[in-house]
Amino acid sequence: MSKHVYSFSAKSADGDGKMKELLGGKGANLAEMCKIGIPVPPGFTITTEVCAAYYDNNKKIPEDAIPQINEALAKMETAFGGKKFGDPADPLLVSVRSGAALSMPGMMNTILNLGLTDASVEGLAKKTGNARFAYDSYRRVIDMFGSTAMDVEHEEFEHEISKLKQEKNVKLDTDLSVDDLKELVKRYKAVYKKHVKDDFPQDPKKQLMLAINAVFNSWNGNKAIQYRRIERITNLKGTAVNVQAMVFGNMGDSSGTGVAFTRDPNTGENVFYGDYLINAQGEDVVAGIRTPEPIAKLNDQMPKVYKQLCEIRQTLEKHYKEMQDIEFTVQEGTLYMLQTRTGKRTGTAAVRIAVELVKEKLIDENTAVKRVAPDSLNHLLLPQLDPKATAKVIAQGIAASPGAASGKIVLSADAAVEHAEKFPNEPIMLVRKETSPEDVAGMHLAKGILTSTGGKASHAAVVARGWGKPCVVGCEAVKINEAAGTLTIAGQSAKAGDFITINGTTGDVMIGKVPTVAPTMTGDFATLMGWADKVRKLKIRTNADTPADAAKAREFGAEGIGLCRTEHMFFGDDRITAMREMILADTEEARGKALAKLLPYQKADFVGIFEAMAGYPVTIRLLDPPLHEFLPHDAQGQADVAKGLGISAAKVKERVEELHEFNPMMGMRGCRLPLVYPEIGDMQVRAIIEAAIEVKKKGKTVLPEIMIPLVGVVEELVILKKRAIQIADDCMAKAGTKVEYQIGTMIEIPRAALTADKIAEEAEFFSFGTNDLTQMTFGFSRDDIKGFMPTYLKEKILPIDPFQSIDVSGVGQLIELGVKKGRDSRKAKHDQHLKVGICGEHGGDPDSVVFCHKVGMDYVSCSPFRVPIARLAAAQAALGEAKRDK
Ligand code: PEP
Ligand code: MG
Repeated sequence: MSKHVYSFSAKSADGDGKMKELLGGKGANLAEMCKIGIPVPPGFTITTEVCAAYYDNNKKIPEDAIPQINEALAKMETAFGGKKFGDPADPLLVSVRSGAALSMPGMMNTILNLGLTDASVEGLAKKTGNARFAYDSYRRVIDMFGSTAMDVEHEEFEHEISKLKQEKNVKLDTDLSVDDLKELVKRYKAVYKKHVKDDFPQDPKKQLMLAINAVFNSWNGNKAIQYRRIERITNLKGTAVNVQAMVFGNMGDSSGTGVAFTRDPNTGENVFYGDYLINAQGEDVVAGIRTPEPIAKLNDQMPKVYKQLCEIRQTLEKHYKEMQDIEFTVQEGTLYMLQTRTGKRTGTAAVRIAVELVKEKLIDENTAVKRVAPDSLNHLLLPQLDPKATAKVIAQGIAASPGAASGKIVLSADAAVEHAEKFPNEPIMLVRKETSPEDVAGMHLAKGILTSTGGKASHAAVVARGWGKPCVVGCEAVKINEAAGTLTIAGQSAKAGDFITINGTTGDVMIGKVPTVAPTMTGDFATLMGWADKVRKLKIRTNADTPADAAKAREFGAEGIGLCRTEHMFFGDDRITAMREMILADTEEARGKALAKLLPYQKADFVGIFEAMAGYPVTIRLLDPPLHEFLPHDAQGQADVAKGLGISAAKVKERVEELHEFNPMMGMRGCRLPLVYPEIGDMQVRAIIEAAIEVKKKGKTVLPEIMIPLVGVVEELVILKKRAIQIADDCMAKAGTKVEYQIGTMIEIPRAALTADKIAEEAEFFSFGTNDLTQMTFGFSRDDIKGFMPTYLKEKILPIDPFQSIDVSGVGQLIELGVKKGRDSRKAKHDQHLKVGICGEHGGDPDSVVFCHKVGMDYVSCSPFRVPIARLAAAQAALGEAKRDK
């Protein structure tokens, strides 16, 4: 018989901290805390395998798990002083909580106070001498059990309590008398019966089993599914269920509850950070309904408990060698720990904590490198407010997640989703009283989050921090009228659609759009990057086509340019005219004249880029997009072009029509352009070589690499390479100076990957253009996936958008094959190592970087701001495991 249930109690446990997959993170850590002598209320964990079996078994808990649950329940009773679960005279109550192997905060169900019935509530009142507490607990369990296990709308219960408070003319829940609470229990039971068509169960065991089912069901609830999709969590068996003896933080002023981090999760500073509430249950802190007190204040209110908590903070950090996120409850002066787990943190904090743990000799450098999720570095690369900006701060809240952001106000998560669908490029700012797990999709789309209630551990704060989004919470000056779509901030009115700016580092709120500046790489960030550089094998280059971008990328550690898209250089005001003149030319001679005008521009750009990248390779790709992209498609635009060039509008229109293609991405583009119009390629090669000569003459090292795009047949490359060599020879002869250069190709057509051996006989390097390669392998137009990709992801037809992260099993095969065939053939024919890299968007995606490492590429190339992310991902790939759990 397999073991389905693992017990834990003071100093002993069936499981331990390593069993996260089976017991979930919460269950494994409860067991571990028991083992190291931390005070934890006794309980047991039902494994994630039971969750999987529950789903395999038509949503029924497997038979052989039931006796194990009963046995564990009895054990818990013994461990908790012999109290009996739901005993009418002196009831032991339990909490039932979810807990998967990876943390999914707030995404699944929790039910507290189970075991209360009409009979045991009396017993609890008598035994504790606190009828108020007993009835308050009873009404809470009816609400929680009803809404989570039985799908009764929580608002229905809320409505009853609001109504009663009005009738009794009181403001706070705590102003309700015992009799009021008894009345409330009656009304809650009526709501329950109306919706469930049955009475609130009076058998504690029945409550327990239904609650366990409810937690399993929540594994496949909408918000949990959405969260797993956003966080790319796959391959988990399910959630475990933790059943634990209840301890109460709401038993008066010597009780309380709190959540804390062993270090500041925003900045990483080594200070105790968190919130607590006196006389409250745990959910009150997280839900953001009451604004809690900072943890240090507990020292004034309960000095002994505070001291013990500080000791536990140290014990846990030393034991786990990692920053922890803890939950605790104090019941009448006695401290209990309810949870510990690796604390979610901002990227900034992740870096500081990892570096400081090395300095404290708790971990080594490589562990530090593995600890930081590459994408979380985005946080350190987030824009900060321009210090020169003079925006007026009109309100201040709690700084919950750093970085500055501006966006158009949306007042609900749904509005965020709608806005993003209509205007995908417009930044939005989610402004709400508080957020809840239902809001995650909208939160994810927002540039930042501002709430009027809640503390540092509120839902908005925790989620924003996890995603590296700027967030300000508890900004009480924000008053929202969601129905009207308006709000006031410290008395100033605003409405949905207006711009607002927040500074999550300081908590400042400003109306309007405030300029931001790019961050720099210094301090702990630079230290960690240094450690990453020591172990990584992949070189990291950047995709850049201006000297400014090249210089920025150098600051971030780029070791060359992997893709300079020359077409971007033709769009400047002064150049586009010459470009259009070239496209509209009828003869080779006229084309040549226009190209001659473009040459100095191109050359000047290349000089700037070569200088910024002196000493590093620069891959310059010849013109790639279809020519129609350079001409206007509207009548007015065409008339303007005609006027500027002194030709008729009809001629422009005619040429635009001539250039029209049904599938431009598969039409006249890439290497097909210089094959049909060789002068275009000639001009570009000339500009590259002349620029290289000029920079070399200034005493700088230039390493140009001429890249021919969209090759599918080796003959294309043969012709273009021959011509490029002739031009280069001519330039060098004229200048009397030689420069070293290479000629290579992109591998972005499946046929190129399949015939990589032939192509490598000609190419000195390969650069995988995985944007086009993905497009052509799937037959998905990269510009038209909006219509179907959401369905593909929702229906799990694909695990992830293949334009975001390499489709390892399909496109990945082509890459692997291309690398192998290319390398073998280059070696055999020329006894040379074929340099291989990637320059599609995937080059900055951490999972794709791991793949590139595995197939033995020499480098990845990504946008300048992703260079540090790629450096870290490459180091983690080299260390053999990428860290997913933040
Ligand atoms: C690619 O196709 O991956 C690539 C880098 O080229 P582009 O995105 O410019 O088509
Ligand atoms: Mg391409």
